[in-house]
Amino acid sequence: MYQELYYLDFIKCYSFAKQLTGNDQVERVEKAERIHMNILLVDSDDKDRERLKRILKSGKSRCLVDEATTVNEGLQVFNSKHYDLVLMDFYMPQRDGIEMLLEIRNDRSAASTTLIVTSTEENETLALNCLHAGAHDFIVKSDICWPRLRRAITNAETRFDLEGKLLESYKNAKKLAEHDSLTGLANRYLFDEYTKNAILSHERSNNKLAVVFIDIDNFKFINDAYGHDLGDEFLKQVVERIRNSLRGNEIFARLGGDEFGLTLTNLRTNQDASRVAKRILNLLDKPFDVEDKQIKASASIGISVFPDQGKSTEDLFKFADIAMYRAKKLGKNQACFFEGQMQEQFSARYKLENQLRTALRDKQFILYYQPVIDTADNTLKGFEALIRWCVDGKLYSPDTFIPIAEQSNLIMDIGRWVIENAIEQRAQWQHLGEDLSMAINLSAVQLSDTTLPRFIARLLEKHQVNPRTIEFELTETALLENSTAQVLVINEIHNMGCRIALDDFGTGFSSVSHLRNFPISTVKIDKSLMPNKNSAKKEIALISGLAAMIHSLELEIIGEGVESLEHLELCRQLKIHNVQGYFFDKPLPSYDLEQRYCRLPANHYV
Ligand code: C2E
Ligand code: CA
Ligand code: CA
Repeated sequence: MYQELYYLDFIKCYSFAKQLTGNDQVERVEKAERIHMNILLVDSDDKDRERLKRILKSGKSRCLVDEATTVNEGLQVFNSKHYDLVLMDFYMPQRDGIEMLLEIRNDRSAASTTLIVTSTEENETLALNCLHAGAHDFIVKSDICWPRLRRAITNAETRFDLEGKLLESYKNAKKLAEHDSLTGLANRYLFDEYTKNAILSHERSNNKLAVVFIDIDNFKFINDAYGHDLGDEFLKQVVERIRNSLRGNEIFARLGGDEFGLTLTNLRTNQDASRVAKRILNLLDKPFDVEDKQIKASASIGISVFPDQGKSTEDLFKFADIAMYRAKKLGKNQACFFEGQMQEQFSARYKLENQLRTALRDKQFILYYQPVIDTADNTLKGFEALIRWCVDGKLYSPDTFIPIAEQSNLIMDIGRWVIENAIEQRAQWQHLGEDLSMAINLSAVQLSDTTLPRFIARLLEKHQVNPRTIEFELTETALLENSTAQVLVINEIHNMGCRIALDDFGTGFSSVSHLRNFPISTVKIDKSLMPNKNSAKKEIALISGLAAMIHSLELEIIGEGVESLEHLELCRQLKIHNVQGYFFDKPLPSYDLEQRYCRLPANHYV
């Protein structure tokens, strides 16, 4: 393949390269006259050979001339040493000059030999055939003189030179096209090619091959916290450490930003691959010293093995990716082998993803709203919009599809659909009260969309909704994962006048720093913290403590999961002024809520 490409590129680049070398022409003519040359004459006609020898000697160069009278003899002599020039007659007994050319051109060691075909007659078609077969020139015997030969030799030399330079530039271009410029590692293309070929050679052996995907954990943090230059430097160091630990029976490639691939060949057992993975994890364990900063790193590694789990690059890559995803999910800093059931889960996920796409297109989502109630007088304070998926008469809860929507980025579109509909609904419920709030859940993924604040602003404007009545709910994990860009999105939404609530508080880190560092105005205490009937004092103490802490930061509190009068009483006691829960209402479609809460004109739904 390498040679084929080279010759294709050669033709394309010939005129370009000519400009590069044209100036050396004079020098080369001089060289042709100075140097000692090995010349082979292949001609069955004794007189013609004698004449050619005389002409060659008339030149200033020192020639060592060997002779042959047939093609077979000529080829035999040709193979005995290197010749600078072969002058062959076209018409020879048994085999002609073209056959000789073809044999010589197939011999790579002959690449720098000038091949000239001679003929007694002027024949354009024959001349072209000879050139196509690889001759550098075709000269009628009567025209042969030293200057004519010299020109043919220098032309051929110019061409060798060009080919050399083109080969060099081709090699450079190939390197650029196949390697990552930051780390010098192979890129995805080369990784793919290498793995494909390695699989082919493993099909004939009993050995195994492993595809290992490595994803650096939390690289985004490093980039965001210290900037891209340091991030790049860090990646280079990571690569260096891994590269130094490899044995040489593999290819190591950069597949994307912080994602790397290894294809390990000639393994006897799967353990060989897991040993490499463990070695990599151990290597990363020692902090990196980048621009005077100590950076801790870890990686999530996914492994798939040929032939056990897959027989094509596509399958092995897909399975290594799934296994890597699993390693991340299990808490990062570990390696996972692909297992069959992951494939089933993967297929189910893939199916669901497609169904969600259809759901969006076919408007199968609806919003339910759960009232938020003021504990002082049990009046309506606002709503939380909660999505439902309605398909084939069944209603699916968001827990079954939001995580998949987040993994596939579909949450971007679904989330926008929610925002649009909730704001529109808020506008329609204006008559219920000017200050009535509408809470909308935002996924962490949505925060990476820097156009989100503008999208929200346009909707508020369009529906004439006061931003203060819209509250976006974020979970603590969303805040934890935040990059600088995401923090900017939160701040921008807050600066527009919308409120930010921290959802499910008490389930994760429950960190005070999040409450202080982000523009949060409301904290929602998770429903799991509502004590059940025979709950111990400890549980009551926990919710009391959290409520006191939130009060001390002068933030509003919403108690979730109020299912009983006891819950309501407890909230009142703890000065949790706003609550949601089945004790009042389950999330309901807007129509049902209007029946309950609104005094609408009788013909509203006509
Ligand atoms: P969440 O934001 O914590 O929503 C509250 C969940 O608690 C809702 O479940 C609600 O139906 C349920 N709930 C309300 N009152 C009670 C109660 O008294 N007892 C009990 N046991 N549960 C109660 P739902 O609607 O199934 O939503 C589940 C989660 O899905 C939500 O939790 C939220 O994280 C996510 N979600 C819902 N809609 C959206 C959305 O539009 N976008 C995003 N990103 N996530 C959403
Ligand atoms: Ca919520
Ligand atoms: Ca919640």
